[in-house]
Amino acid sequence: MQFIQSFTLVASFIIFMYIASYSFRHRKVPGAFAFFILIICAVIWSLGSFFELHTATLQGKIFWRNLEQIGVFGLPISTVYFAVVYTRHTRSIKYVIAAAMPQVLSVLLIFTNDLHHLMRVSCALEHSAEFGESLVVHSTTLGSILVSYNFALPLAAVLILFNYACKLAPGFRKQVYILISSFLFTFAVAWIKTALLEPLNIFVHISVLYTPAALAVFFSIFKHRTFNLSPVARDKIFDVINQGILVLDEHGTIIDGNTYALAALADYFRIQNPLDSKLGDLNAQYPQVNQLIGRTEEDQLELHIIKENEDAYITLSYYPLYHHKRKYIGSVMIINNVTVQKLFERKLKDKAEKDYLTRMLNKFGFQKALQHYLTENNRRKYSVLMIDIDNFKLINDTFGHAAGDAILRHFTDIVNGIIRSEDIAGRLGGDEFVIVVPNIYQETAFQIAERIRITVEDGTIDLNRQTVRYTISTGIADNSAATRSFDEILENADKALYRAKSNSRNCTVVYTEADEA
Ligand code: GH3
Ligand code: MG
Repeated sequence: MQFIQSFTLVASFIIFMYIASYSFRHRKVPGAFAFFILIICAVIWSLGSFFELHTATLQGKIFWRNLEQIGVFGLPISTVYFAVVYTRHTRSIKYVIAAAMPQVLSVLLIFTNDLHHLMRVSCALEHSAEFGESLVVHSTTLGSILVSYNFALPLAAVLILFNYACKLAPGFRKQVYILISSFLFTFAVAWIKTALLEPLNIFVHISVLYTPAALAVFFSIFKHRTFNLSPVARDKIFDVINQGILVLDEHGTIIDGNTYALAALADYFRIQNPLDSKLGDLNAQYPQVNQLIGRTEEDQLELHIIKENEDAYITLSYYPLYHHKRKYIGSVMIINNVTVQKLFERKLKDKAEKDYLTRMLNKFGFQKALQHYLTENNRRKYSVLMIDIDNFKLINDTFGHAAGDAILRHFTDIVNGIIRSEDIAGRLGGDEFVIVVPNIYQETAFQIAERIRITVEDGTIDLNRQTVRYTISTGIADNSAATRSFDEILENADKALYRAKSNSRNCTVVYTEADEA
């Protein structure tokens, strides 16, 4: 029997040594160094047990039993340390140190027991046919309490790992569950040994019983690549991705953010060191961001930011986070800089809707803006100015086409200088322009048209070293008869323009019923 015990002890010792050296060589793998310490505790335990078995004297057995206790008390606290490191709760290391104090005290009391007898009442040799001489120790109440604390620690480790597993994507949980099962297994084994096997006089060393669990953890850490690779890869992606990622708790406090997000907050919102602050408190300039926080639905926000006189466009995508799909526990916010895309879209829109020569709305752009205006302002009064440059063909023929282009741009500048921001001006084609002036009838519109006409008439433009003057004619109509459509009003303005051209040109004519004749 003693031979079987020795053999299993040596076997478990060899396995533990192999696992320990492998873990130490690969100590950069998450949790591997903590696992190394855990295994070293198991090795001390095995060694102590082995030599205790092979020592005949009471003093010798006590010496090895005491040494064994370093492993016995070190193993549970190493389990907690492993769980904390593996789950990246590095901030909680201080609690692990505090939790280790009773363990340190226990080991100290065991080694100095002869002086105070606080841990053990007595130690004696007992003889049995199967096991020969074995050491029987009677603990004090304090000793029993400190030993039971050893059972609480692996349970704490299991809780830490379980809490971590709940937060992981389902695909990553399996490996953590293997760990949890291993820890629970060791826990169950300790109980089976003391509650079931020992009453039946079956003494199997606990370090032997722990070997399967140690092997399971070992294979989990080093053989399942996803176990260590995926979380590391996730962390890497978090830091290098070209998108900002912010993690907020349920109160809107920023608890994590990748490099990109922290740079974006500093750059666009002038927020420095945002971690542990509430996004809402930091960001008074854009109140719409605060409205996202706490929402239970996904949402997106686009912000136009002017930074050093340059346009920047930022999108904020908000994703609420739930525990078990029910309890709102916080949110993730993705920050994207869409400036390049937005400016490109604006360029395309400009190309489609603006006239390349004058940068004024072209026919398509004008119709779009008009449609928008008419749907928003149905039945409100407005006037239409139809403007045509006089004898433009002649200008082209006399000074050249480029000179004609310069006049078109000159005229556009004058119009842009006079009209209001709500007016809609477009170049319908050639030298023909149209302006919609909201909220006024044709009598007031006449004054605007005259201001434009007189400014053109008074202005000069230098073309090919010659000073050139040009004039315009304008026809005006409005929607004072409520049933009229825009096309009808445009037609009326055109009729008035025709009259202006038929008169002496360089004049403004308001549509009247007489134009129908
Ligand atoms: P009216 O006073 O009756 O308007 O006489 P007009 O010569 O201006 O006659 P009309 O308005 O019909 O002439 C339009 C001219 O505008 C014809 C065309 O050669 C010229 N034109 C059209 N588009 C452009 C352009 O982009 N640049 C230049 N330079 N000329 C253009
Ligand atoms: Mg003309």
